[in-house]
Amino acid sequence: MAAGHQRRPQPSPLTAQPGDQPPGLDTWLRTLQQALELEARQGFVDLMGRQQRFSAFMAASLTAPPDEMAAAERERLEPLRCSFAEYGALSPGRRQSLVRQCRERLHQLRQSVRPPAAPMAPPRLRLVDSSNNASRANAQPSGPLRPDTPLAEIKGVGPRTATRLAALGLLVVRDLVHYYPRDYLDYANLVRISGLEPGRTATVVASVRRTHAFVSPRNPNLAILELQLADPTGRLRVSKFFAGKRFASPAWLKGQQRLYPLGATVAVSGLVKDTPYGPAFQDPLMEVLESPRAPVKSDAIGRLLPVYGLTEGLGADRLRQAVTAVLPVVARWPEPLPARLRSELALLPRAEALRGIHNPQDQEQLQASRRRLVFDEFLLLQLGLLQRRRELTSRPGLALTPASGQGTVVGQFLELLPFPLTGAQQRVLAEIQADLAQPQPMARLVQGDVGSGKTVVAIASLLTAIDSGCQGALMAPTEVLAEQHYNTLCGWLPQLHVSCALLTGSTPARRRRELLADLTNGQLQLLVGTHALLEDPVQFQRLGLVVVDEQHRFGVAQRNRLLGKGIQPHLLTMTATPIPRTLALSIHGDLEVSQIDELPPGRTPIRTAMLAASERHDAYALIREQVALGQRAYVVLPLVDDSEKSDLRSAVDTHRQLSEEVFPELSVGLLHGRMASPDKQAAIGAFARGECQVLVSTTVVEVGVDVPEASVMVIEHAERFGLSQLHQLRGRVGRGAAASHCLLINDSRNALARQRLEVLVRSSDGFEIAEMDLRLRGPGQVLGTRQSGLPDLALASLTDDGEVLELAREVAQRITSADPELSEHPLLGRMLAEQRHRLTQGVQLN
Ligand code: ADP
Ligand code: MG
Repeated sequence: MAAGHQRRPQPSPLTAQPGDQPPGLDTWLRTLQQALELEARQGFVDLMGRQQRFSAFMAASLTAPPDEMAAAERERLEPLRCSFAEYGALSPGRRQSLVRQCRERLHQLRQSVRPPAAPMAPPRLRLVDSSNNASRANAQPSGPLRPDTPLAEIKGVGPRTATRLAALGLLVVRDLVHYYPRDYLDYANLVRISGLEPGRTATVVASVRRTHAFVSPRNPNLAILELQLADPTGRLRVSKFFAGKRFASPAWLKGQQRLYPLGATVAVSGLVKDTPYGPAFQDPLMEVLESPRAPVKSDAIGRLLPVYGLTEGLGADRLRQAVTAVLPVVARWPEPLPARLRSELALLPRAEALRGIHNPQDQEQLQASRRRLVFDEFLLLQLGLLQRRRELTSRPGLALTPASGQGTVVGQFLELLPFPLTGAQQRVLAEIQADLAQPQPMARLVQGDVGSGKTVVAIASLLTAIDSGCQGALMAPTEVLAEQHYNTLCGWLPQLHVSCALLTGSTPARRRRELLADLTNGQLQLLVGTHALLEDPVQFQRLGLVVVDEQHRFGVAQRNRLLGKGIQPHLLTMTATPIPRTLALSIHGDLEVSQIDELPPGRTPIRTAMLAASERHDAYALIREQVALGQRAYVVLPLVDDSEKSDLRSAVDTHRQLSEEVFPELSVGLLHGRMASPDKQAAIGAFARGECQVLVSTTVVEVGVDVPEASVMVIEHAERFGLSQLHQLRGRVGRGAAASHCLLINDSRNALARQRLEVLVRSSDGFEIAEMDLRLRGPGQVLGTRQSGLPDLALASLTDDGEVLELAREVAQRITSADPELSEHPLLGRMLAEQRHRLTQGVQLN
């Protein structure tokens, strides 16, 4: 950091040329604001500019603000400058918050340097309190609205609209209240004409200078009203179009013209268009004010106007009216959060937030309303997860406490290992063993980056169960991985006199029968397999621990299958795909999480590079070189064969090309998911033994495959894969002592694709990569499947509302530990029960 102070960069970063005048404050601010906006839009990837990275540009610019800036202001920029100097090393979350901070600071700066001259002040507009309108509409003759009043019965909705609303799944009052706007038209953005920005919505209050109503010279059925408006800062053209014969009459045109007499004050809200004549409005909302000070009557002009998802035959106005008609009902809805808690967390009352989300008076109220509702969503989610955790762990389980001392199988196993456990492995194993010793079943997730040595921890945990006279099961997501685990175990277990077998979908029927018999009579101590283990005939004599490898989560359904067998074993899930914290909290909130946050020593970092398709020969040269050194290489493709019509290279094709044309002197293997299981095993075996040196594969090698001699990973069409997936694939190399390489072949010219891949080139931190992946692709994609237990969130965003999520988690924990049955929070309890009901009913909510 000290070095950062001494560096004095050129005052002309990124855009300016040498010899240019130093930029004025205005230009300086604008350039920085643009850079920040671009960076935010691109997902905080530290954009590469023409000459330097975003972070370098920011740090340099903040060091050299224009001379006009007051010394006090300069000083306030200093901490930001320091942070940008370290931007590259920050997590995406930190980057985002730094960018936000900086934008706020610059915005304040801009405000403070704006001359306070009176004519520049934004126009004034008085709004009538729109909740009055609403309560008028709510003069229900048929008694008060209830949450479950059918919408058809609401005055101001009517049966026709109700039918249309039903098409959106909105049947009763409650549904409509919870039908949040998708977006807002910001007509609350009150500006002077000189401050209009094309592409933004705005409201202007100005006086009429000219009015002209005429029939379009090109279309006799189109009437056009053109106004020229003026305020002290400039002029503005407004056009309104009227299609239809009746509008073309001279009388009607005259009437229009009379509506907007010269000198009248009008309030105009709309989207600002950029035209050759400067900014203009086309078909905006317009209202003539009785006097410049008079309030507008319109309930749209000058407001933040909600935009709802619509359906056919249901216009925006109808939907807004319907919401306005039911909204007063929330005033009588009870508040689920205690007042103390609410004020501690600075949360609006829920009723106010519901009103504010539909009918915000300004941005501030909108943000505060949103925060409260997001909090509630997260709170319910977390309460639900904690409740599930309680249910999971409150059933009686087996306390696994092996007779301690020398004689244990675990002890012998750890001694047999050719290496000591890393500190992290020891810690996590201790956490697991402490859980196993409890008479409640464990529900724990172990996260550890690729190659952090989870398998050893899994085996030691299983042996702990076996030491206590129980059986263990190890489940893998693919047959390849199950077989590999089995082979690893076969390396140790015979020496430890532990019996072990493999059960997958392709286990022959006879072998299967024997095996099941041995399981039931307790002869078989350890069973390795795929989810075939959950099938009905599989009965254990005394199952103590199930380890699920390489899974994001072991679903509730699968857990219930185990329970259905009358067992409540301890459960350990392991995953190498780091999950961003917000996502982890949302789907693993019911699990304890252990982190193996240390790699075994002696690993050389993997060198990662991006190649264009035309540079593929470089990758082949590297493979040749490494194979000559006794190493091996993977080549991964997105497709099995060309039958899946597309331009992508396929594994089958590439295998043919590599074995016949590129590496005729080498043995090239092929592995993909459509091969029969024994063939897959044979291919991996040959590669592991070195009988073939290059393995062409699909992503079936993604998880778990462990061949220490492999030192090259070439990934074709890398732009097609998720970042976390690429990180997994890369983890197949660098498992031995040799320096390893990962080459990402990028066939796309897309700038975003490049940027995504650059994250991988730059970072080997699985968490950072996962965070980026979440930001760039969204939670559904990152988790791979839609069934991964993702929460039902209408407003909350896992990428943007992390802070609120943490808060909600903490509050949920506080509430649950003080009041596990939620008897002192009856409303929360009811909301939770309703949520559960919805979820178990499988109702699609969003
Ligand atoms: P992952 O966490 O990706 O499942 P593995 O369990 O497959 O990782 O381990 C990766 C490699 O590291 C294996 O070859 C394993 O034998 C080795 N390994 C595991 N723990 C250690 C350790 N403490 N010291 C050295 N090597 C280790
Ligand atoms: Mg593993």
